[in-house]
Amino acid sequence: MRHKVILVILDGLAYSVAEHALGHLQAYVQAGRGALYRLTCELPALSRPLYECILTGVAPIDSGIVHNGVNRLSNQRSIFHYARAAGLGTAAAAYHWVSELYNRSPFVAARDRHTDASDLPIQRGHFYYADHYPDSHLFADAESLRLRHAPDFLLVHSMNIDDAGHRHGLDSSQYRNAARSADVLLADYLQGWLDAGYQVLVTADHGMNTDRSHNGLLAEEREVPLFVLGSAFNLAPTAQPRQAQICGLICDLLGAAHDKPACPELLI
Ligand SMILES: [Zn+2]
Repeated sequence: MRHKVILVILDGLAYSVAEHALGHLQAYVQAGRGALYRLTCELPALSRPLYECILTGVAPIDSGIVHNGVNRLSNQRSIFHYARAAGLGTAAAAYHWVSELYNRSPFVAARDRHTDASDLPIQRGHFYYADHYPDSHLFADAESLRLRHAPDFLLVHSMNIDDAGHRHGLDSSQYRNAARSADVLLADYLQGWLDAGYQVLVTADHGMNTDRSHNGLLAEEREVPLFVLGSAFNLAPTAQPRQAQICGLICDLLGAAHDKPACPELLI
């Protein structure tokens, strides 16, 4: 069965904070309408390498996207590629590095910030390039794409939690409140997405440490949440999904052929 899918990446959100700060998402879990899993991110725990891992299922040391400064097109096939090959529509409201990985590199704001190009892997996009670009605007950008284009696969990628972590650290009210704010913003859209038949996944690329950074092996840097919501998920409490399985999992939901590790134990 083919489903539409929305993937939300809350950049830099550690599992330990996701577990207690996201009251709206946890309401779905407590009501038996969603599940929360703990993922251990691949290494290194950096953004661009893990966007690539989540979206292609390939670990950084194999993709070659090994740090944030590797500024080139991905040479792997991503969810966007598999979806397009299956004739499905794609869209993203995301940081500009996502455009650089799958559409065009380097990013040229005047050309790429607003993308509407049926022949590109990400056909419709709003791409921002400031870490303090408000999450409120980002979620509105994503909803605009959904309403206007009804994409089969939509990526929604926010940056304010990571930004607060780099300014104030893991153990700060600012970091925790950025997570709470993202959860409240998501509350405006989530039920509408589910009612429209989307399967929704909410995760993070990496976590955050008390030194206001991330790259290492500390639990707070590596452990991230994966919330799943929608009729296609079995919500099995014992499943142990891996970050590199998200690409294959989403392709399976979309009904798009792929050659990546997947996670059928999450699905009905
Ligand atoms: Zn960061």
